[in-house]
Amino acid sequence: MVTREECAALDAVDPLAAFRKEFALPDGVVYLDGNSLGALPVRTAERVRQVVEEEWGRELIRSWNDAGWFEQPYRLGRRIAPLVGAGPEEVVVCDTTSVNLFKVLVAALRLRPGRRTVLGDGEAFPTDLYIAEGATGLVEGARSVLVRPEELDRHLDGDVAAVVLSHVDYRTGELLDLPGITARVQAAGALMIWDVCHSVGALPVELGAAGADFAVGCTYKYLNGGPGSPAFLYVAERHLATGPRQPLSGWFGHARPFAFEPGYDPKPGIGRFLTSSPSLLGQAALGASLDVWERVDPAAVRAKSLALTDLFIGLVEGLDGIEVVTPREHARRGSQVALRHADGYPVVQALIARGVIGDFRAPDLMRFGFTPLYVSYTDVWDAARELAEVLAGGEWREERFSRRGEVT
Ligand SMILES: *Cc1c(COP(=O)(O)O)cnc(C)c1O
Repeated sequence: MVTREECAALDAVDPLAAFRKEFALPDGVVYLDGNSLGALPVRTAERVRQVVEEEWGRELIRSWNDAGWFEQPYRLGRRIAPLVGAGPEEVVVCDTTSVNLFKVLVAALRLRPGRRTVLGDGEAFPTDLYIAEGATGLVEGARSVLVRPEELDRHLDGDVAAVVLSHVDYRTGELLDLPGITARVQAAGALMIWDVCHSVGALPVELGAAGADFAVGCTYKYLNGGPGSPAFLYVAERHLATGPRQPLSGWFGHARPFAFEPGYDPKPGIGRFLTSSPSLLGQAALGASLDVWERVDPAAVRAKSLALTDLFIGLVEGLDGIEVVTPREHARRGSQVALRHADGYPVVQALIARGVIGDFRAPDLMRFGFTPLYVSYTDVWDAARELAEVLAGGEWREERFSRRGEVT
């Protein structure tokens, strides 16, 4: 068994250890829920204060031009692009993941007019399925069909217009073969839409190298943009060149928004996927967190993420009532570990009371996210020890740990 001293020795030579001080985490907390809501970067409060007091409060409407507000969705998109392996003009920051998925999905259906089926993963984060249902419901004859990723090939017939999959499964932490699946979907004549919510900032995402058609992702998980921070979308340059049409044709996607013309004429390029005024306070917070990401080596993030999840799996497997659900193979693992336990909910609550914050997904999965910028090897060791104590002592049986809030 690995000792705490061995973990401290790993921390001492960790090339990412210096990033821990970039985050304002409370003392006494081991935060293993950065896959759901990333931690607060230290610089964010000052950046948001500056935008509120100076750009908004003092400069008022002038900031649309003078502080670059109008350009912000593009500027942030260019900064996210390297994190998803995209070109600088292929990503824009706007709206939410769900809304962006709606936009790219309808655009994809319009690019495959003879085809009417959208394939999705029946176990996916449900908002993606709800959006696929809503989007196909608007297109004559279109339908959304749910399959498991391992059955995909059998369903890739001549009617499939698009496939929507999550790069990393939000429950199990399983990582899909993004280049391989993209190639098979495209060989069948369909378009591939990736949801990278659980991979961006957790591992290198190679949308461009894989030739992916579209992608959507959120910024409040591993990217630490803050609660409800704006999402992003990616459209491959070759599709942008053909002028794809998205359905939410608002004025920010118009070629000349300040001409106030009655007819819609979309912008060339990625800008046509915008709809409305950007939420600039949320974008300001995201900008602050991307300052941190600019200095991060993605290969070091992936290496440490695998080392942290390996360590945690090694420490907790064999604990009473615990089943490790996350794949052991590195090529199939994201940056979280899911543990099945019949009483997962109260066990997680008891852990949170001890300062180890993970979360729970029904019916029986405890999730622990490992964010290499601010989680250390000793954090992992401490979390595993607390879990072992909670299970051995049975404190999770206390009634207060079974009361459920709105968000689990
Ligand atoms: C977190 C997450 C979302 C979030 O959707 P919002 O519209 O931004 O609330 C969507 N899809 C997946 C796979 C997620 O993990």
